[in-house]
Amino acid sequence: MEQRTVVRCAEGHLFSTSTFPMQHLGPGRLGPGRLIRCPRCGRLRSSVPADVEALSVRQLARAMRLEAPEFLA
Ligand SMILES: [Zn+2]
Repeated sequence: MEQRTVVRCAEGHLFSTSTFPMQHLGPGRLGPGRLIRCPRCGRLRSSVPADVEALSVRQLARAMRLEAPEFLA
């Protein structure tokens, strides 16, 4: 089953990706982020896992519909 992670780009856009490599990090351990092509910016952005508990249901739903088409390390 596909597991997606909601991430936030450096510009604050929320989207999701199925290939984010830091799925097991808990809140407060967001790490340095990875370069992912943000579907909102259309550019490579340093993105970190979003703090999903701080997001509204609506924000989460929107992020899950916006999936990053590719992963670039
Ligand atoms: Zn963005």
